[in-house]
Amino acid sequence: MTPNKRPEVNIGLVGHVDHGKTTLVQALSGEWTDQHSEEMKRGISIRLGYADATFRQCPGMDEPDCYTVEEECPDGSESEHLRTVSFVDAPGHETLMATMLSGASLMDGAVLVISASEEVPQAQTEEHLMALDIIGIENIVIAQNKIDLVDREQAEQNYQQIKEFVAGTVAEDAPVVPISAQQGVNMDLLMQAIEEEIPTPDRDPDADAELLVARSFDINRPGTTWDSLVGGVLGGSLSQGQLSAGEEIELRPGREVEEGGQSEWQPLQTTVRSLQAGGDDVETATPGGLLGVGTGLDPAITKGDALAGQVAGPPGTLPPVQESFTMGVNLLDRLVGSEEGAGEIEEISTGEPLMLTIGTATTVGSVTSARDGECEVQLKRPVCAEPGDKIAINRRVGARWRLIGYGTLQ
Ligand code: GDP
Ligand code: MG
Repeated sequence: MTPNKRPEVNIGLVGHVDHGKTTLVQALSGEWTDQHSEEMKRGISIRLGYADATFRQCPGMDEPDCYTVEEECPDGSESEHLRTVSFVDAPGHETLMATMLSGASLMDGAVLVISASEEVPQAQTEEHLMALDIIGIENIVIAQNKIDLVDREQAEQNYQQIKEFVAGTVAEDAPVVPISAQQGVNMDLLMQAIEEEIPTPDRDPDADAELLVARSFDINRPGTTWDSLVGGVLGGSLSQGQLSAGEEIELRPGREVEEGGQSEWQPLQTTVRSLQAGGDDVETATPGGLLGVGTGLDPAITKGDALAGQVAGPPGTLPPVQESFTMGVNLLDRLVGSEEGAGEIEEISTGEPLMLTIGTATTVGSVTSARDGECEVQLKRPVCAEPGDKIAINRRVGARWRLIGYGTLQ
């Protein structure tokens, strides 16, 4: 595989459950992201909600017909590689916004999938769009899916509902592409829209590596003897810079260490032993796509996503570790999502617990002081973050955490 076949951009698939996100990823990549067996995990091939798709183009054909994922063109000639994109599939039945939000910090753009056969918006359609707004993801394509289930008039009505729904949001000018993911209708038009609306970001080749850790594993089989144990594995995506095998890295916040009755968070130091990108072993990794990073860490430390939410990079270059901070607060106008607790959002009050998502980290914080437009929080688990970072704020409403606004770290 030539290096340019590796994913160079992360595109989120968001939208209401059952509107066809996973079907669409499969149509474009031939992979089924809901599948993430133990076996794949052991191969450090981290597929959880990730699938890579290679967009290709048939030379000499007009747009949009020229776009394809097939290697062979209708006339028998070979198609040309355009770029490989990595789709981040928001988990279908996950009602917890945090999961979608932590994925959102890895997205360079998003495809919002909306079913043409239902009223707009459904609960998660609205919640996910709001999350894109908060995280600041502006490159959006709307896939109006399941057009095979509706007639022309219904499709047009649904289109009008979509336009009204996105008016005044970050997706206001996003193209709406009618498709049937299941029947493979208009996939070329959708690819064209993605190529135009979600460009590969300019990356600074000299920036220090910053790996946002989304997952962490112990890939050893139970009963493995100590002399054949493999070090802990991190799964994540580079937000900037390059990472190479053999490099020293630091993880922050690291690990909680007890000393003389005091507990303290200390960064972890280790070496990159191996790298996997797009399913291949690589020497050097760049932003775009999910990476598997083999480290020299004790696998007991990385087991069961224990390091999810941490940040890795060259020692001494990472943002500071924050155990408490002040954040500027912007509350939403009203609660969106399910009927439960719908309505106005009350001000944040001193003493209340909040669930905060910062980058790929999700942590519970207790409000120690609430003032007009800002509040101070004490975190249960510290985060590695710097002033200006966006924080998604969730409050417990009924049985679950609901997005109520966003904060900015001060
Ligand atoms: P997700 O929850 O958004 O990932 O939705 P899925 O991709 O799992 O799809 C939910 C259901 O809708 C499945 O039964 C799909 O087969 C079906 N589906 C997805 N896309 C289409 C489509 O374009 N047309 C029709 N008729 N059904 C679809
Ligand atoms: Mg799904």
